[in-house]
Amino acid sequence: MGFLENLRLVQNRIAEASARAGRNPAEVNLLAVTKTLPIDTIRQAYDAGLREFGENRVQEALGKINVLPTDIRWHLIGQLQTNKINKVVGKFILIHSLASLHLAEALYARLGGASQDLLLEVNTSGEASKSGVQPAVAVETAGKIAMLPGLHLKGLMTVGPLTEDSKKQREAFRKLKELFNEIRGKAWAGSAFSTLSMGMSSDFEIAIEEGSTLIRVGTALFGARQ
Ligand SMILES: *Cc1c(COP(=O)(O)O)cnc(C)c1O
Repeated sequence: MGFLENLRLVQNRIAEASARAGRNPAEVNLLAVTKTLPIDTIRQAYDAGLREFGENRVQEALGKINVLPTDIRWHLIGQLQTNKINKVVGKFILIHSLASLHLAEALYARLGGASQDLLLEVNTSGEASKSGVQPAVAVETAGKIAMLPGLHLKGLMTVGPLTEDSKKQREAFRKLKELFNEIRGKAWAGSAFSTLSMGMSSDFEIAIEEGSTLIRVGTALFGARQ
């Protein structure tokens, strides 16, 4: 199937999941995940009107940012390493994968007067392979990050569990939403704390039903990656 047809299918799935949850589909932002994809494929998505793209690796992303149109809003969704931090400041509209206070402090040290929007990644599945802070320390960690001038904490992100069991997927997303609500109630969070990044090709409908405001979709748009 072609990209345009895939896009229409994904948009229909977003609309249907939103309707089931009594939500406005316009509240759900679609991030096209372009990791490993060639420039031509990304340009096709751009020509179809998409402007929000997500990449996993800093080096790969910077190569694409350099050659693609400058009105693209690039998101960093993959694991962030301390040694790459100096390369990310100012390049990404949103970093989803801030996974520790240590990383936040390293990023803060490199800001040099700039600012950076980010999400705190939470490991809601408990899987050892996943990054993110543990749910038990998420609120406390978010509070400490919010104290660092220039770092703007906009919300939370999680990667759903590696399972087809929709009950387990739902539990993980529900847990993230609870933490999100708890943080939103804090004086330090502010009204800009409003993004809930959860849901991928295999689980975004459940994520939308559980309150996602940003889904990260690769395979359902572009087909299986090589
Ligand atoms: C690859 C990736 C996605 C997209 O996954 P698909 O299953 O292809 O939709 C979303 N989020 C993160 C963090 C990823 O690494």
